Amino acid sequence: MEDCERFVPELPEIANLAKQMTKQLKGKRITGLDLTQPKCLNMSVKKFRRIVGKTAGETTAHGKWLFTKLQSDDNLLLNLGMGGDLLYHKNDTTLPKKYQLRLAFNDNTGLTATFSWFGYIHLASDMELPRHKMTSKLGISPIDKEFTVEKLASLLSGRRGAIKSFLLNQENVAGIGNVYVQDILFKARLHPLRMTQTLTESEIEALHRSTCEALNQSIRLGGLKYERDLHGRYGKYGPEHFLVAYKTGKPCPVCKTAIVKIRTGSTASYICPKCQKL
Ligand SMILES: [Zn+2]
Repeated sequence: MEDCERFVPELPEIANLAKQMTKQLKGKRITGLDLTQPKCLNMSVKKFRRIVGKTAGETTAHGKWLFTKLQSDDNLLLNLGMGGDLLYHKNDTTLPKKYQLRLAFNDNTGLTATFSWFGYIHLASDMELPRHKMTSKLGISPIDKEFTVEKLASLLSGRRGAIKSFLLNQENVAGIGNVYVQDILFKARLHPLRMTQTLTESEIEALHRSTCEALNQSIRLGGLKYERDLHGRYGKYGPEHFLVAYKTGKPCPVCKTAIVKIRTGSTASYICPKCQKL
C-alpha cells in the first residue's frame, strides 16, 4: 500500500453491516438513546427521542447509507462518513469511549456509531423517506438484481462525460467510491477518462461484469481490511486482492507494464497505460 488515503466505507462494507445489523437487531426494542453531536441529526434531539420504544426491523444498504426500519412507520438512516465505525455490543463492558450515537436495546445489548467527520444520523418516517434530501436521489445499488447490463446501458445512454465520474456519481450507481472503481475500470479495460458516449455494447457488458465481480468478491471476504464490521472485526479484502489500485510502479497483472498513478479531476487513478488506453 503506497499511500495512506483515508478510506470511506463503500458498498461492500455497508452491505455487510446491513446484513449483520438485521441479524443482531431485528425484533429488539430501543430502550435508551445517547447522542453527543446533535449537528449530525436532521432534527432536534428532543424530536429524535421518538426513536426510544421503537422496535428495529430489517436493515438495508443504500449506497453508503444504512436504512434500519423501525416499527411501525419510521426509519433510522445512518451514514458513517469517514473513519466511521458501527459496533454492536453484548453488554456495557466494552464500550468505545468516543461516539456520536449509542442505542440501548431491551436485551441489554447496544449499538454505538462513531465517526471522525461527515457522518449523519437521521430519522425519516415512511412518508418522509421519499423526500429525504440526501438519499432520495441515490441511484441503483450495483449488487441488486435490478442492476442488469440493460439497466447500466440505459443509465449511460445520452450521458456525456468521463466514465469514472459517472461511476462515482451516487445518483447513477450508489456505493462505488475511489477504491473499488480502480479495479472495476481496469477489469473492463477502460481508461477512467473515457467518454461515456463512446462506449460500445461489449464494453458496457464488460463494465457491468467487472462491477459485479469486484463488489461481490469483497463482500465474500467481509469488505476492506481497513474497515471494521459490526463486531469490530476487520474485513479480508486488501491490497493482495487489488489489481491496479494503489499499485504505482508494480507490474500490470495482465501485461506486466508498470502501473501509473494519474490525476483524474479531483481524484487519483491507478491504471495500466497499455491495457487502459484512452
Ligand atoms: Zn496491462
